[in-house]
Amino acid sequence: MTADLKIFNAVDDTKVKQFDQLSNFEIAAIFKRLAKNNLRHNQVVNGGRGNPNWIETTGRLAYSRLLELGVVEAEQTFNEDAGMAGNVRQEGLYQRVMNALGDSRRDEFLRNAIQAAVNHLDIQDRDAFMYELVDGALGDHYPYPPRCLSYTEKILAQYLQKNCFKDQQLADYVDIFPTEGGTAAMVYIFQELHSAHILYPGDTVVVNSSIFTPYLQIPVLSEYDFHVKTVTTRRSNNWQMTDEQFEELKDPKVKAFFAVNPTNPTARAITPENLQKFKEVLKVNTNLIIITDDVYGTFSPDYQSIFAVAPHNTILVYSFSKLYGATGERLGLICMHKKNVCDRLIYENLLNSHLNELDEERYSIVATDPHKMKFIDRMVADSRAIGLYHTAGLSSPQQIMMDMFSLSNLREPAGDEYVATSRQTVTNRYNEFWNTLGLTADQTLENTHYYTLVDIYRLMSERHGKEFAEYYQDHYNYLDFTYRLAVEFGTVIMDATAFGAEKGNVRVSLANLTTADYHRIAQDMLDLVDEYYEKYQY
Ligand SMILES: *Cc1c(COP(=O)(O)O)cnc(C)c1O
Repeated sequence: MTADLKIFNAVDDTKVKQFDQLSNFEIAAIFKRLAKNNLRHNQVVNGGRGNPNWIETTGRLAYSRLLELGVVEAEQTFNEDAGMAGNVRQEGLYQRVMNALGDSRRDEFLRNAIQAAVNHLDIQDRDAFMYELVDGALGDHYPYPPRCLSYTEKILAQYLQKNCFKDQQLADYVDIFPTEGGTAAMVYIFQELHSAHILYPGDTVVVNSSIFTPYLQIPVLSEYDFHVKTVTTRRSNNWQMTDEQFEELKDPKVKAFFAVNPTNPTARAITPENLQKFKEVLKVNTNLIIITDDVYGTFSPDYQSIFAVAPHNTILVYSFSKLYGATGERLGLICMHKKNVCDRLIYENLLNSHLNELDEERYSIVATDPHKMKFIDRMVADSRAIGLYHTAGLSSPQQIMMDMFSLSNLREPAGDEYVATSRQTVTNRYNEFWNTLGLTADQTLENTHYYTLVDIYRLMSERHGKEFAEYYQDHYNYLDFTYRLAVEFGTVIMDATAFGAEKGNVRVSLANLTTADYHRIAQDMLDLVDEYYEKYQY
């Protein structure tokens, strides 16, 4: 018996079954702990984390400069030795701040960004604009209006125009609600679809699988109790939906469709041809509500959102977490067209007198005409149990941080260079990983390379033949591979079954480690496959 086989047998694989019922994030956390004492005494590498290992610097430095200038301004109002100053004065603020900016890189960025915004957004009251930025960064007033600061909404709309809408000019026709990350955006949307009587328990919703697990877990919670159908994309179709799956969406019983585009974990964007098919779907199923989570959009070149082709039926979720390395900031948003299916359904439902009464009561404390309250504003109110509607807004420093990231992105060509660099970073890691595995990597435009799914049955089959792969599949628990990789090699990757992927698929995140680490992960995976093979022969 070889030394490797001794190690192989030292892993107690009867333990694996107990993890079956846990969510994949829990399992990864447990495997990470087990990896610390791995049998080979390797340094732990964790390829399970989607958190990027880079940050964007321009927007952050600009934010810190705004804050600094804000304090200087506040001290002009009054200044006590105890570290107390007055509120910033709006009158003449634009010129004072512009004059204070020097010629350092961050000052130059801030000056140019502010000037560009004034020009492109046709801002007449420059002092009001500067006041929103400076006072917002200081965070000394409740965010007002509660849904979104006024100029911030225009800036965010331009950001979405560039990165999600592309050739469809929609920036002037959208409402935006900044939220505590994409996380809160998802929660508020589910909550409101329920509260606004748009979706009822038992209603059919379709989820585009495989998908970020919460989209599978939330709709089946008892308060929603939706009937969840999945349309699962396959590797053989480059992870794209088939025409039959688009047909399923035409059934008027399907009330909502949830998609992450580009998807986590398959990392593919919907092709331009398939994007057009949503128009056909909506001709038949006119009330369908589409929820698209575009957090990985910028990682796909020439990306366009479902929102751009179906603006009246789509609720868009975006987060700054991934592109900007800003998961701790909690920066996300919900975007809806001013003319949208949700508002129409609310209006139609209100013609039903019973709901009419309920609604009058529910929102009468915050709206003089509750009937006319839009879905997006109901979402804001309901996010704070209605009673706290007036203090519902996302913290103003967070909103201004989003402005800074957005203005940094809207620069040409510097903003595009940042995006291109983030793409190249994950692509280099992806290529190293797949080249080490010795399998052909997919280089289609739709592939973001942010994550990658590996079919370990295929890997086994290519390396040691089909019979062996089938033997493995029949004799081992589907979690055995990721478990053993952790316990024996100290390498953590995520099982993808809980994302809705077929058994045998594992997800490796390309966001979080060095290129050399991805080489090691692939090598460990190959070594483990070889160990299973040795055992199989023995
Ligand atoms: C990472 C991720 C998010 C981001 O969530 P935040 O709360 O903004 O950090 C949203 N959706 C998906 C699918 C993700 O993978």
